[in-house]
Amino acid sequence: MARYVFITGGVVSSLGKGLASAALGALLQARGYTVRLRKLDPYLNVDPGTMSPFEHGEVFVTDDGAETDLDLGHYERFTGVPARMTDSVSSGRVYSNVLEKERRGDYLGKTIQVVPHVTNEIKEFIDIGDDEVDFMLCEIGGTVGDIEGLPFFEAIRQFAQDKPRGQCIFMHLTLLPWIAASGELKTKPTQHSVKELRSIGLQPDVLVCRSEQPIPDKERAKIALFCNVRKDAVIAAPDLKSIYEAPMAYHREGLDQAVLDAFGIAPAPKPNLARWADVQDRIFNAEGDVNIAIVGKYVQLADAYKSIKEALMHGGMANRVKVNVEWVDAEIFEKEDPAPYLEGFHAILVPGGFGERGTEGKIKAAQFARERKIPYLGICLGMQMAVVEAARNLAGMTTAGSEEFDHESGKKRFEPVVYHLKEWVKGNHTVARKVDDDKGGTMRLGAYTAELAEGSKVAAAYGTTTIEERHRHRYEVDVKYRDQLEACGLKFSGMSPDGRLPEIVEYPDHPWFIGVQFHPELKSKPFDPHPLFADFVRAAKEVERLV
Ligand code: GLN
Repeated sequence: MARYVFITGGVVSSLGKGLASAALGALLQARGYTVRLRKLDPYLNVDPGTMSPFEHGEVFVTDDGAETDLDLGHYERFTGVPARMTDSVSSGRVYSNVLEKERRGDYLGKTIQVVPHVTNEIKEFIDIGDDEVDFMLCEIGGTVGDIEGLPFFEAIRQFAQDKPRGQCIFMHLTLLPWIAASGELKTKPTQHSVKELRSIGLQPDVLVCRSEQPIPDKERAKIALFCNVRKDAVIAAPDLKSIYEAPMAYHREGLDQAVLDAFGIAPAPKPNLARWADVQDRIFNAEGDVNIAIVGKYVQLADAYKSIKEALMHGGMANRVKVNVEWVDAEIFEKEDPAPYLEGFHAILVPGGFGERGTEGKIKAAQFARERKIPYLGICLGMQMAVVEAARNLAGMTTAGSEEFDHESGKKRFEPVVYHLKEWVKGNHTVARKVDDDKGGTMRLGAYTAELAEGSKVAAAYGTTTIEERHRHRYEVDVKYRDQLEACGLKFSGMSPDGRLPEIVEYPDHPWFIGVQFHPELKSKPFDPHPLFADFVRAAKEVERLV
């Protein structure tokens, strides 16, 4: 049976609860334990799949095909444990399950209520895979006091009560505001937040306090006294230069020790932090820089491409260089020549995306990278647009485009070199769908195998010819154009095992130009950089600056 750490937040949002949870997961692993991290989100969307990246940042996809919150990305990057569909749940999902059961008559005519029906549904979710790991870390989204969060707080209270004593602890994250005028750290918001938590029956065992300044001993003692927490369980969370400092920083502040103490685990196994020391060394002792342009649509919001940004950084760490990422709005190139914007970058990345807006600019960016021999990594839509570029400018198919944009505009304008996928093979069965299915859940999602061509650049980067990567898209490059495009130099170097779905394209005569239909960024970790990103950054490092 797993031990449970429930992680809640108070005072304000965006305190880094996800990061604290992920760092704690990494620290428990460093002490030899197995962990799994989970996110319970109070919003009413059934999953984040249909939420705009502007609203919610990137959608993180799991191997088993769930569209989840980007916090699961943090969890994976810090622990290396592949997240699963059952590691993320929202109020929307919970209510939808409860209502489905009610319609089926599972509740035998009972009146359905938040307590116990909704809370029971949440508790069942928390329990999944209980026997597989030593520690289950469950983060509750939002802040204590939010109306939507209440059923979750009630559910974790009950859950801890149902388990044997000492099986569950509560960790609460708060903010200690710094009042510059009086030179003081204020503890009152933290006191109030804990009071709010206690009023719903939850007593924190560990308090993590974000603060710009170190917490003086007097303040720490005061927080401990007023919040009914042991003094050494009041953990300071100072601002960090890199998120990957978090495991070491939290260890220095005593977080893992406080958690193990709260469970009464003594003596605590000694931690081995070599992995994180190496990660920090690679970040802070980089030798040189590379500048990479991400040409995309959601450039205003860095969180929209969170995993890509992280994977590029990991690629830099693999090469001991610092990667400077600059976001370039693809729409600019619809009117203007990309050269002045893109010259001087060591590499160009065109990420995934949906909808036509900005795509002509992405095509221009791909053309620029191809012609100027600048390393190019096209991810999902970025691969599709590289194929369209080749079809138009190398194969002479001037009307080449993606069926996605015809569906959007309701007009037939493009020769569909990228077409809507209606049927594909998953494992040993076929999945089929129609154009007008619901928006949610109509994509090829999750891990699929690709076979790589022997001798290709991509096989060299991976060091193998069979890979498994995560997908999230509706449209595919049409294999019927393969011969025509290969004759122009664009090689289909990765295919689905049945040979029907192009997974990777590359130009063998270009220093580094690879497009992938999947999202390699989702599997990259700071201590295990993704081979494609490592190789992409290596190529960028080798490029001579153009201006
Ligand atoms: N919009 C494209 C598709 O659905 C690409 C999706 C993506 O980049 N993730 O196929």
